[in-house]
Amino acid sequence: MSAPATTIFTAMAALAEQTGAVDLGQGSPDEDGTVVLLEAAVDALRAGHNQYAPLAGVPVLRQAIADHQRRRYGLTFDPDREVLVTFGATEGLAAALLALLRPGDEVLVLDPSYDSYAPIAKLVGAVMRPIPLEPPVWRVTPEAVAAAITPRTRMLLLNSPHNPTGRVLDRTELELLAGVCREHDLLALTDEVYERLVYEGTHVPLATFDGMGERTLTVSSLAKTHGLTGWKVGWVTGPADLMAQVRGVKQFLSFAGGTPLQHAAAVGLNLPDRVVDDYAAGLRAKRDRLADGLAAAGFSVLPNQGTYFLNVDVAPLGEPDAEALALRLPVEAGVVAIPVSALSADPARVGSILRFACCKRDTVLDDAVDRLSTWAAAR
Ligand code: PMP
Repeated sequence: MSAPATTIFTAMAALAEQTGAVDLGQGSPDEDGTVVLLEAAVDALRAGHNQYAPLAGVPVLRQAIADHQRRRYGLTFDPDREVLVTFGATEGLAAALLALLRPGDEVLVLDPSYDSYAPIAKLVGAVMRPIPLEPPVWRVTPEAVAAAITPRTRMLLLNSPHNPTGRVLDRTELELLAGVCREHDLLALTDEVYERLVYEGTHVPLATFDGMGERTLTVSSLAKTHGLTGWKVGWVTGPADLMAQVRGVKQFLSFAGGTPLQHAAAVGLNLPDRVVDDYAAGLRAKRDRLADGLAAAGFSVLPNQGTYFLNVDVAPLGEPDAEALALRLPVEAGVVAIPVSALSADPARVGSILRFACCKRDTVLDDAVDRLSTWAAAR
């Protein structure tokens, strides 16, 4: 088994550092999000919450997660058996994939997709089966889903709001996917880290659909919702029998970590919705700022409904290969972006799409737009 290779994010971050380019590559805000949580973390440190947390996470956070899921979505979880705190969503996803997949199992996944899924599935000998999303609207179609299913399909790994496209799946698409899970008796693993960063449409967890609660593991994290990506506090919720398996694997990945941050995360989850709504409104304004600037510079901006990301199609600029352009842009324009082809099993299908992170200070977004305008005008 070969070790997973360096990701596109590591490669592009290195290029940003070498060239001094404005980095709109990784989805990492350049400002703290919910600042009251910083005080909550300091309080937790000073209060002596500095030793190992229980394997499943500190009780106050597990309760806050259960309360959040009930308040926002009407989903009920037993905080002791059906909630697991993890080292970011990344560990929750990894533990779930490692616990539930066996060699030869197939996993349906929207394509393009976030880059941590496939390498973990590969570690257990499972196979990813892409459901291709077509730009510019990136809709899930019944034909694409039907073509991806085989007798070996074991799981649907769903990410909505979706990275890298910024798509928020609607009820029709979710109903289709839930129906497929029921019909083929699939497990569902949902990555909902952008659940609160929705600018158009509504986020509806797959676990809320008929017959889905008993087969769905839902993963989320504090990172995006509160603009604190370095904290790495995530969680998994789901039925007790599946959660016991995930907990068993997580035990030997990290056991438990970040005790004071877990306490602060509980404060974050218990904040009034308005605090996060305001944060999301600020991000929406950033998305619009970047979209308007890029459009004025001559870029063809794709629709977006949520997340930290905004995509453009560079083919109309005479650049059919976004990956080649992404490698040149730091030098030619002084801006780093991610080619969506790096996140696809079918790079040619999305070959001209470039992803920008819009979760940056306005001055940084304006600087990037200025540089890209100058670059585009000189062509
Ligand atoms: N899933 C998706 C779709 C993401 O974009 C990210 C962060 N880039 C993660 C998971 C990882 O979340 P965390 O930082 O909580 O591990």
